[in-house]
Amino acid sequence: MVWFKGHIPRHSFIGWLALHRSLKTRKKLLQWGCIEDAQCFLCMETIEDEDHLFCSCSFSSTIWQGILLILGYYRNCSLSWENEVKWCCDNFGSGGAVNTIKKLAFNSFIYHIWKERNKRLFSTHSNSMDVVSFDIVADVRLKVEALGLSDVDTATVKSFLDRWNVSCQLLKKKVIACT
Ligand SMILES: [Zn+2]
Repeated sequence: MVWFKGHIPRHSFIGWLALHRSLKTRKKLLQWGCIEDAQCFLCMETIEDEDHLFCSCSFSSTIWQGILLILGYYRNCSLSWENEVKWCCDNFGSGGAVNTIKKLAFNSFIYHIWKERNKRLFSTHSNSMDVVSFDIVADVRLKVEALGLSDVDTATVKSFLDRWNVSCQLLKKKVIACT
């Protein structure tokens, strides 16, 4: 899910930390006595931990739902981080351009949400949901074009690639004739 052929190292590093609940979320910093208020800087609504930051936060979940739509899924985000990761593991396969794009998008989402959180925490600047969504997609598209991926030539794959506005080598299915 994180370390796969074609991964973006900086995305996968943050993704790996997030999957292991090793990011220094504000809830942890509060428990360690480093801060006095653990409010999420993306929505300013509640305490920031992984479940909130990557699932229930109004800012992040809206972005993730948009990314999922481009991936071909219409669904609400799980309420727990473990359940969302499990859903991704169950639905994002391995091999081929489509599955690689799904995993790139997942890690790009985590990376850019964490980056935006840090931007708001350490500066007075912030990006809108549209800008963060654009950056998530742009990183995936750039990587896919550089990787020169391939997948099976089907209408579903073509439609998926069209939604991402990326190209890849399309391989004809081998037909074994019965004689
Ligand atoms: Zn939030």
